[in-house]
Amino acid sequence: MPYDVTITKRETGESRSYTHPSEWTDNYIWCEGNYACDCNRAQFFAECVGEDDPNILCSDNLYTVSIAVDGKVVYEDDTQTAESPAAA
Ligand SMILES: [Zn+2]
Repeated sequence: MPYDVTITKRETGESRSYTHPSEWTDNYIWCEGNYACDCNRAQFFAECVGEDDPNILCSDNLYTVSIAVDGKVVYEDDTQTAESPAAA
């Protein structure tokens, strides 16, 4: 079943939502995978309102997401704090 994604831009507090066409399996891609990265989140955030992909640099703290399947929240960044990569 497709799932609903709400992306919030931390800087402005603005939230946008869209329906992600893939099947929900687990939170890996949002938590650890490609969609945990702000470059992808920024693209989704822009596409929600038909804007172009801003092509921002990779980072991991500019956007937060909340994901719901069939109206039930299955993943939220704020409740599963992202691990900060250790400064090498
Ligand atoms: Zn990236």
